[in-house]
Amino acid sequence: MMNGFISPVKELFKGLFTVLKNGFKSTITLEYPEKKKNMNSKFRGKIIYNKNECIKCRLCQKVCPSIGTIKITDTDYSINYAKCIFCGNCVENCPVHALHLTSCYELASDKKENLIMKEDITGWK
Ligand code: SF4
Ligand code: SF4
Repeated sequence: MMNGFISPVKELFKGLFTVLKNGFKSTITLEYPEKKKNMNSKFRGKIIYNKNECIKCRLCQKVCPSIGTIKITDTDYSINYAKCIFCGNCVENCPVHALHLTSCYELASDKKENLIMKEDITGWK
């Protein structure tokens, strides 16, 4: 009879103790998007393509392990972030550093077409 009363009370105090123990610790989550995390310098995020640096060797396309991510047509250079695995191969192998990784991680979208970074390269030979 007594045991049936003590057990829930014990559990209640255990719960209260846990709340008190953690209630004074500093938070480890951020109030995103108002506050944003500073990514470290090795973070691989959105890629920047500089068409003025590019020598049109297409090496980036060849070393990309995710086939179809980088598309180069007569008019466009595009990177599809829905397919990109952010390995950094394209950036590392570009002979003229026309590609750069940034710490930008805010790429989420509800439309796949919004995940395609397209640059007009009309005039490429
Ligand atoms: S590897 Fe660099 S220079 Fe070559 S096509 Fe790609 S971005 Fe341009
Ligand atoms: S980061 Fe990797 S997967 Fe993404 S485009 Fe470059 S080589 Fe392809």
